[in-house]
Amino acid sequence: MTTETLERTRWQISVDQAACTGTGMCVHAAPAFFQLVEGKAQALCASADADGRLLDAALNCPVEAIRLTEAGTGRVIAPEL
Ligand code: SF4
Repeated sequence: MTTETLERTRWQISVDQAACTGTGMCVHAAPAFFQLVEGKAQALCASADADGRLLDAALNCPVEAIRLTEAGTGRVIAPEL
């Protein structure tokens, strides 16, 4: 995915509450997008413009609890298949 494509893409964000172990790694990596509430990560918004920090957070979640899908197409961005 090119930088230009990334900037024009919008992603849906969700966190699997059952899978999240509350490491806080996503909050540290992308504080604009995640917060910890009672030991579980929550997305601060349901969708956002594609963002490298958001992708890093999703790809580095140790339990793959963060799911990013491309708005419109539903294509899975993370976790990697
Ligand atoms: S990185 Fe994954 S396991 Fe850790 S708080 Fe975020 S969603 Fe939960």
